[in-house]
Amino acid sequence: MFTVEQLRQLANFHSNRYSLATFYWKAPPAANRSHRGEETLVQDLFREVRQKLESENHGREWWNSFEADQERILQYLRGAKEGTAANVAVFSCAGESFCQILQLPRGLHSGFVIGENFYLQPLSILLDQYHRSCTVLVDRASARIFEIYMGEIEEHTAVLDEVPGKVKAATWRGGNERQIERRVENKAHQHYKRVAEVVLGFFKKYHFDWLILGGHGDGLKEVESYLHSYLRSRLIGTFAADVKVASLPEIMNKSTELIEKHDGQEKRALVQDVLNKASRNGMAVVGLADTLRVLSSGQVHTLVLEEDLRVSAARCRNCGAVTATGAGRCPECNGSLEQIEDVVEQAVQAAIQDNSQIRFVSGSDELRQAGGIGALLRFRTPETAVEL
Ligand SMILES: [Zn+2]
Repeated sequence: MFTVEQLRQLANFHSNRYSLATFYWKAPPAANRSHRGEETLVQDLFREVRQKLESENHGREWWNSFEADQERILQYLRGAKEGTAANVAVFSCAGESFCQILQLPRGLHSGFVIGENFYLQPLSILLDQYHRSCTVLVDRASARIFEIYMGEIEEHTAVLDEVPGKVKAATWRGGNERQIERRVENKAHQHYKRVAEVVLGFFKKYHFDWLILGGHGDGLKEVESYLHSYLRSRLIGTFAADVKVASLPEIMNKSTELIEKHDGQEKRALVQDVLNKASRNGMAVVGLADTLRVLSSGQVHTLVLEEDLRVSAARCRNCGAVTATGAGRCPECNGSLEQIEDVVEQAVQAAIQDNSQIRFVSGSDELRQAGGIGALLRFRTPETAVEL
């Protein structure tokens, strides 16, 4: 489990003297897993990186920090109990006495990256995939509240009101059934209202993105009618469930289905929004060069990119303009170009540092045709605003 805030701290961590080491580890399948075997694989990753760095000119202290980072990672893996280091990310800069280890909800591709920044794109993709959501199961007498985040479900509150079952007894004190029935109905209304209030309290404390309701018919409708407007705008769906018997896996599955459906719709709408605004009113841009430009000027509200975007790019040594091709001369000033490695990672880093939202999209032909990357802006580019 990790948060946007942790991601931002990692993006803002720098060292003037040492490299930063990023290590993602996805353990091999349990059947052929052993500490010894794992260590060999990790050592192989380290060796590959070391070979690439050998030609570079670094001082003794730099190499010491670099070696200590690897030792720290190995120590962690050796010390981890069987299974607990299955999916993990380590961010380390021994020279600056910095180390952060994050347990991940699912494995990312294993890798070891040395650079001036921590390598955060995989982490950022993970964060985008997992929204914090709240599922509430409710019937006329009880309610259960669950939080779903990073592939885990946790039951949080039991809101159990004492509401007696519907009165069926026709013989109950002669003609009083109607009155009793009404009293019971009132209690049910109060219960639904209270559930809505408890969910609002839960929201204020945990700030979930999405709300899902489970239950049956009129009860669901009634809770919905009592929801605060904050919550109603977060409600993404309902499903049929029995409060008392629903199991955690069942609740998780039904919630996840609704979340994925909603997520897909939201991303399609976002891509449309970016394309429309880019062509109409300048409150969005598409394509690598323009997106990098607006990122560097802090204009980006939401960065949108293909999940597996790979692009080569180059920067002009003379004027600094970024071009997406990486070959030839600068289209602005005909200056010579230098290759930028990891240009997508740079875009992601800039967006994290600038507090922009980042959404990763897969399978959008329209976005791909527009260069695979774009952004919604907080404000228009000043130059275009005065360029009349
Ligand atoms: Zn140039």
